[in-house]
Amino acid sequence: MNQDSFDFTYSALPSRVLFGNGRLSSLPHEAAQLGSRALVLATPYQADLANQVAELLGDLCVGVHAKAVQHVPYSTIEEAMGMVTAISADLLIAAGGGSTIGLAKGIALETNLPILAIPTTYAGSEMTHIWGISRDGRKTTGRNPVVKPKTVIYDPELIISLPPTLSITSGINAMAHAVEALYAENANPISSMMAEESIRSLAAGLPLVAQAPNNLDARSSTLYGAWLAATVLDQVGMALHHKLCHTLGGSFGMPHAETHTVILPYATAYNHSQAPQAMTAISRALSCDVADVPNAIQTISRNNGGPVSLKELGFRAEDLDKAADIATQNPYYNPRPVLRDDIRELLKNAYHGHPC
Ligand code: NAD
Repeated sequence: MNQDSFDFTYSALPSRVLFGNGRLSSLPHEAAQLGSRALVLATPYQADLANQVAELLGDLCVGVHAKAVQHVPYSTIEEAMGMVTAISADLLIAAGGGSTIGLAKGIALETNLPILAIPTTYAGSEMTHIWGISRDGRKTTGRNPVVKPKTVIYDPELIISLPPTLSITSGINAMAHAVEALYAENANPISSMMAEESIRSLAAGLPLVAQAPNNLDARSSTLYGAWLAATVLDQVGMALHHKLCHTLGGSFGMPHAETHTVILPYATAYNHSQAPQAMTAISRALSCDVADVPNAIQTISRNNGGPVSLKELGFRAEDLDKAADIATQNPYYNPRPVLRDDIRELLKNAYHGHPC
C-alpha cells in the first residue's frame, strides 16, 4: 500500500459474526437462517462438544460426524460426503479448530453447502475463503468464496478447555497473520488497523491465559485478537513467514502452531529494516521499542511455556540446507528480497533459538 497517498484496494467477503460469552445459545436461531438439516462436524477428541451442539440444535440436527483429522485428507472428505448424502444434509456446522473447519470447507467445495463455524482455537480458518486438502501426502490450498463460513459464533467459554501451551502457540499462530498483514503487498488502512489491534489484544491476553486458562476476560481478548487476525488473513497476502512455515510443515512434518511460534520472531527480524511502518505499528501494539519487536514477540512464547527453537520441536540440523533450498523456490512477495544464504542463516538461528 502507498500509505502516503492513500492509494489502495479494499476487498472483503461478507460473513456474520456473533461474539461473546454464552453466545453458543444463539446457535439454533442462527442455524435456522441457513438450513433445516444440519450435520455437525468435530474431531474425535471433541465428540462431546459435537454432541452438545447437536442437542442444542434439536430437530434441526440430522447427524454428527466427529471424525475430522489434521490436514484434511481427501479420504475424510469422501467419508463425510457419504454421510451428507445419506442424511440429505443442507447445512454444515463445524465445531472445533482449523482441522474441523477444514473438513467442512472440503465438503462445501464439493457440495456448495453453507457452513456455520464455532471455532475453539485461535487458528482463524473460520474467517477465510482459503481451503486446504491433503492427497497422496501433498497439501493443496486454494481460495473459493463457497468455503467461507456464512456465520461464525465466537464463544470464549468454548476455548477455556484449550490447554495453556496450545493456547500460546495457537495465539502466536494467529498473531503471525496480523504481523504479515502489516507489511503485505496489498495492505490497506483498514486491514492495518485491524492487524495492529489484533496484535495488541493477543499480546495483552496470552500471558493471562497461560497463568489462568479459565480467565474469561483474557479468553475474550485473545479470541477477539484471533478474529481480527483471521479477518486480515482473508483480505491480504502473506509473506516470508508463511512460506517458511509451509515449507517446514509440508516438507518436514513440523507441527503447525508450534512452528509458527518459533519462526515468527525470526521472520520479523528478517523483514525489520524493510518494513518500518509495520514495525512501528507492532511496537505500538506490544508497547516496546521498534528495535525490540522480534525479541518482544519471542518473549511471549519464552515466558509462557511456548517453544523458541526448531531443535526442541524435533527438527534435524542436517535438514537446514534442504529447508533453505525449498523455502527460496517460488518465493511469495516479501518486503526484503528472499535470498538463499540469508534464509539459511535465519533457519539456523531459529534452529538454535538464538536471540533475535
Ligand atoms: P486443530 O483443529 O488440528 O486442533 C488441534 C487439536 O486440539 C485437535 O485435537 C482438536 O480437537 C483440539 N482442540 C481444538 N479446540 C480445543 C479446545 N477448545 N479444547 C481442547 N481441545 C481442543 O488445530 P488448529 O491449530 O485449530 O488448526 C490447524 C489447521 O488449520 C492447520 O491444518 C492449518 O493449515 C489450518 N488453518 C487453515 C486456515 C485457513 O484459512 N484455511 C487458517 C488457519 C489454519
